[in-house]
Amino acid sequence: MTEFQSLGLSDTLIKAIEEMGYTTPTPIQTQAIPHILERKDLLGLAQTGTGKTAAFGLPLAHRLLEEDKRPEPKAARALILAPTRELVNQIAANLVSFIRETPLRVTSVVGGVSINPQIKRLGRGTDILVATPGRLLDLVDRKAVHLDKASYLVLDEADQMLDLGFIHALRRIAGLVSKKRQTLLFSATMPRQIEDLAGTYLNNPQRVEVAPAGRTADKVAQSVHFVGQKEKTQFLVDMIIGRPDDTCLVFCRTKHGAERLMKKMVASGVSAGSIHGNKSQSQRDRAIKGLRDGSIKVLVATDVAARGIDIPGVSHVYNFELPEVAEAYVHRIGRTARAGADGDAVSLCSPEEYGLLRQIEKLTGVSVKVESGDVPAKALPVGKMRTQRSRKRQPEKAKAAGGDNDNQNRQAKFKRRPRRQSRAAHAA
Ligand code: AMP
Repeated sequence: MTEFQSLGLSDTLIKAIEEMGYTTPTPIQTQAIPHILERKDLLGLAQTGTGKTAAFGLPLAHRLLEEDKRPEPKAARALILAPTRELVNQIAANLVSFIRETPLRVTSVVGGVSINPQIKRLGRGTDILVATPGRLLDLVDRKAVHLDKASYLVLDEADQMLDLGFIHALRRIAGLVSKKRQTLLFSATMPRQIEDLAGTYLNNPQRVEVAPAGRTADKVAQSVHFVGQKEKTQFLVDMIIGRPDDTCLVFCRTKHGAERLMKKMVASGVSAGSIHGNKSQSQRDRAIKGLRDGSIKVLVATDVAARGIDIPGVSHVYNFELPEVAEAYVHRIGRTARAGADGDAVSLCSPEEYGLLRQIEKLTGVSVKVESGDVPAKALPVGKMRTQRSRKRQPEKAKAAGGDNDNQNRQAKFKRRPRRQSRAAHAA
């Protein structure tokens, strides 16, 4: 008996994952699958790249097969919500591989692409619907789908959904899904708001955790170069040119910054692409495909666009700028060292960013190895630094970047947002 069989999964699913090269369950899979099969609510705390998708996708498919029902028109039997288009597409692609020998149907819906084909596809009903919250509500409002038959709700990367202001959308969606549902919530970090969300939506949940919240991926070697902001571009270009065999993901704070850096790399002879909120869906897909198939070696990204992306060959993650929120660092560096491989996370830290680095070290409990440059004498308080930086450049705004809720984007053109309304409220 294989380890997957002893977890209680059906042979059809096991055959599919064996063909995908999964022989041994990862820790989150070993811990989560039995609880999900027993129909327990679950709060899963797992690092990025730990096999979360199969941890919920396999038992979900198993249970749907066991129920042996067909979806009603315009209905979904299970709903998976994820923060970004890329992550939705990735989850759906994984699920399609798991269930390819079964009669189950997977449908994904995301913003930024035409809604009519999605309305048509949903007309037949679906077993598993994978969606970004904004587009899903748009489809609900157009009566293209109803959620009252969904007896499974999965919230993946819940912390990022909150960061992107989806809290009201999540509340609304949770109210539309069947009351007798099983709810699974996954998050890499555990801020207070997630605890609250879990308290509201999960019923006596089992808690599984494969690493303490905020802990960085074990296999990632982390280092930092102290270098002035103005020197960073040339510094990074030289470093990447000197290592022609690497596959790199570079994180910037702003979409304009990311685009500028990508152009500078291309001008220096590096094959690079970019992915951020100003790119269309097809441009984003092309860039990711390029890094996957090796036609580009560097992908320059902003946080919002890059969350959850799984590109197995990424050997290096560069933080061209450190993220303002320490948790984002954990997500960024989790893009490398996936599925058991090793990886490097290299940060370029200007003197003004030193406070951010200290916060990251505090969160992760890891002291990042200094590779070059002088450690700044003191760390600027983060709040002060943020104000100084934000005067110069605005970090990429979640909504503008996600572009997930077309309805909302359309309305935004006509209605001025009341000044005191929060981004979260607007997202609802
Ligand atoms: P995820 O955290 O779901 O994005 O998964 C990260 C990567 O690990 C993906 O490339 C998966 O295909 C792969 N993976 C997940 N579970 C297993 C497993 N049990 N054995 C081998 N690879 C896996």
